[in-house]
Amino acid sequence: MSGPDALAIASRHFRGKRNLPSLPSLPGLPSLEDTPSHHIRYGRFLDGARAPIDTVLVSVFRAPHSYTGEDVVEISSHGGSAIPDAIFATLIGAGARPARPGEFTERAYRNGKLDLAQAEAVAALIRARSDRAARAAGAALGGSVSRRLERLDEALVALLAEVEARIDFPSEAGEGLDGAALAKRCEGIAGEIGSWLAAMPSARRRDAGVSVVLAGPPNVGKSSLLNALVGFERAIVSDAPGTTRDTVESSLWLDGVELRLIDTAGIRTSLDPIERMGNERAAMALEQSDLAVVVLDRSQPAASLEAFGGARRGGSALAGGAPVLVAWNKADLARAGVRDADWSATPLAGTRVLAEVETVAIQPAGADPLRRALRDALPAVLDTHSGEEFPTANARHQALLTEAHGALSRAAAALRADDSCDVIATDLAEARRVLGEIVGRGVDQEVVAAIFSRFCIGK
Ligand code: GDP
Repeated sequence: MSGPDALAIASRHFRGKRNLPSLPSLPGLPSLEDTPSHHIRYGRFLDGARAPIDTVLVSVFRAPHSYTGEDVVEISSHGGSAIPDAIFATLIGAGARPARPGEFTERAYRNGKLDLAQAEAVAALIRARSDRAARAAGAALGGSVSRRLERLDEALVALLAEVEARIDFPSEAGEGLDGAALAKRCEGIAGEIGSWLAAMPSARRRDAGVSVVLAGPPNVGKSSLLNALVGFERAIVSDAPGTTRDTVESSLWLDGVELRLIDTAGIRTSLDPIERMGNERAAMALEQSDLAVVVLDRSQPAASLEAFGGARRGGSALAGGAPVLVAWNKADLARAGVRDADWSATPLAGTRVLAEVETVAIQPAGADPLRRALRDALPAVLDTHSGEEFPTANARHQALLTEAHGALSRAAAALRADDSCDVIATDLAEARRVLGEIVGRGVDQEVVAAIFSRFCIGK
């Protein structure tokens, strides 16, 4: 509970069990209302008829040193649903009301405990499905986004001051201020925003998961490989070709990154309408994937290459430029002579084949070469070679950064052309205003409401 009445409401339904050693001067048991901030009390929680519901721990945080900046009471009971429900009902009966989604964080924002980018990081942290996504959100919650924006704003303010000086004292400034030098500074700031924007797609792959499509002709062992990688029978395996009709998705975590593995219906020309629909989805999944694993049959390399090539003849290039791993499956049945496969006649012509591995999907550890190849491919897919720390992927930030980048590019061009300082100052001020919106400065109230409405309840 958060708010000015939180302590009073909780106090009416709490009976403390023992005195606090840290409060020797108070006679008897202090009430919850007399409990100092950042203390935990042990006792019974009582219902409206003063019957005990459960043994609880109650944490007290007083304004302004709490998450929301208001008085906050946290009640820890035994879990399940009956006891929390009874406690909840009692508190509502005593005058509390259920929080809206994200209302605790919204209050923290409104009371200045967090800026808007940090509040969004709370949601990103809760949604995080991998270690790396959680680490990035944690950094943003710690203020990494806000600090980066602060540095940009400082540079902008300094630049704006000089441009405005030209407006106010044109005669003095005329000689002293070099338009090209100012343009360079402006371009420097725009460049910083540009590299932030450039990292967004990688950040999105890291946060939402890397999509990996398994493609190849029917019956080469795609579903079996997927099961071997994920470790349980997620996809249906069958001896009859063309049984995997829809795309099947399951996740694998490697090096703190989520890989969303998508098994596609066997790529081949088909007359069966259901199978054909599966094929279309497969093609779509391929085009949108971050990485493609092409599975081929090591026991009949020529035939499976032919089936793979034939299916896509005349079609678009594979995977829209996504890098490819080739898994030669059924290596246990292999006869000699698969090396130097000629990709030029296949949809792999012109794509980036990162590695070729041999697998045996039906043997223990038989998929490990593919697992290793996937792990090795991550830096290429996430573009993490640079070692730069990525921001969180956030569509609102991306839109605002794009706007600021546009305004700064205009200002830089105008500075180079020695245009009117008024126009340049307007663009610089616009960039500042837009960047400020990321942390919540001057942001529309409807936008704020929309952000918090997407939070879960109780956050
Ligand atoms: P998909 O159509 O490409 O998804 O192929 P499936 O995973 O359904 O496998 C087709 C058949 O090949 C099944 O009978 C599998 O048990 C068998 N299979 C899959 N991988 C291997 C392998 O590495 N070696 C052998 N010998 N058989 C395999």
